[in-house]
Amino acid sequence: MNPDPTQPQPENKETCSADFLRPAIFIDRDGTLNLQVIRDGKPYPPATLDDFRLFADVAEDCVRLKAAGYLLVVATNQPDVGRGTQTQAVVESMHSRLLELIPTLDRIEVCYHPGRGELSTHRKPAPGMLLDAARAMGIDLARSWMIGDRWGDIDAGHAAGCRTILIDHGYAERAPERPPHFTVKSLPQAVGIILAHPLP
Ligand SMILES: [Mg+2]
Repeated sequence: MNPDPTQPQPENKETCSADFLRPAIFIDRDGTLNLQVIRDGKPYPPATLDDFRLFADVAEDCVRLKAAGYLLVVATNQPDVGRGTQTQAVVESMHSRLLELIPTLDRIEVCYHPGRGELSTHRKPAPGMLLDAARAMGIDLARSWMIGDRWGDIDAGHAAGCRTILIDHGYAERAPERPPHFTVKSLPQAVGIILAHPLP
């Protein structure tokens, strides 16, 4: 018997719960959103708020991703805080600036772990920051992407079950454990790839 279209229909719980999960773009910070400092072929974060400068058109790139239906989550290692060579206050001031300049950002995950061979569940290449954000925001990791400029970003994205895009600035450093799904030269190129893959 056909249901009466004039009466409210029972909710399909399975559909509701699948629809609840949303796709996200996990975005690295230094070298992806803002300019990094290069010394001896290796990238370093800006040391002061005055040195914190975004690449051109980054806010517009994020608007395009948001309009395509993605949550936007920054995931950044800031080990200098854990090593005592940077203050948490300066990093937080940079993130306040970041949220002002890119108002489409939904969340910033930061890991202050010093690295240097000590194990961490959250410092990229570990996926902890991505998994925490997924739990907190209801993110569908399999429909999500990780964009970053270093091997740890790509390995973290793989470990979380996301598709990965390397922005290759040609650093003198090791490659990811597993190659990225795509390699580009800039954030606008990464956005172009994501928008060319409609959400399933
Ligand atoms: Mg980076």
